[in-house]
Amino acid sequence: MIHKDHPRYESLKLRAMIVNAHKIGILADSGMIAHGRGEAFDYLISEKTSSNAIKAVKAAAAALLLAENPVISVNGNTAALVPEKIVKLAKEIPSQIEINLFYRTDKRINVIEKVLKNAGAENILGTNQDEKAIIKGLDGPRSYSSKNGIYIADVVLIPLEDGDRAEALTKLGKLLITIDLNPLSRTAKTSNITIVDNIVRAIPNLIKAIKELRDTDPLVLHVIVENFDNKENLQKTLENISKNYTGVNK
Ligand code: ATP
Ligand code: MG
Repeated sequence: MIHKDHPRYESLKLRAMIVNAHKIGILADSGMIAHGRGEAFDYLISEKTSSNAIKAVKAAAAALLLAENPVISVNGNTAALVPEKIVKLAKEIPSQIEINLFYRTDKRINVIEKVLKNAGAENILGTNQDEKAIIKGLDGPRSYSSKNGIYIADVVLIPLEDGDRAEALTKLGKLLITIDLNPLSRTAKTSNITIVDNIVRAIPNLIKAIKELRDTDPLVLHVIVENFDNKENLQKTLENISKNYTGVNK
């Protein structure tokens, strides 16, 4: 039991959710390690949403509103930390939800499907019953995608994705949005729009931005997407991290 007045309460609460998710089969062992890497980068951004992350959130919201076939890809860490928020975001866009796992097993797919259903999701793609299509350039079960989901999507939100898969998806011409605390990861660099923030803060910010932009002229939304420069935004994110540790931003 973690006390609310503990200075690391929020972080420890997330850690407890991750441990529990591992116990009940949502998360593979490596999912816990990925969370630890995320924690380290969250420390470096003072566990706060930056103005650069907000810029990326706005571009992501515009791209999702413009999309003809948007899909949100859900892995173990996402299902462990933000199942209800993901369902809310999908309804708000609206978008399909697809379970997509790096270490795919039928058992883990079933557990995550249950978690998403309990969170209110109705149509879930990528389940064991769903028709699969192979993503070129990947091998084994991690090459699977849903024939009616990621495979035909124009815009894909892939939080905490692996770099290989991000590269394979951009080669298929998809507009990729990712949420990744590590601005140096291959996924962060490969994606069109990278939100460098913790998924627990990024998803509520995305929901808010979508509500704010919903009635905006599509031409204006296009301009927001076109004007977003991911490389520049990642560079500024890194510069701000280093300023934090030279006292300039104190
Ligand atoms: P790549 O293959 O793209 O170079 P990686 O090898 O770092 O990336 P993984 O080890 O698969 O990728 O880890 C997934 C990423 O998710 C990590 O970069 C980590 O920083 C990030 N991450 C972990 N937890 C969170 C979280 N709660 N919110 C946002 N990002 C997170
Ligand atoms: Mg990786």
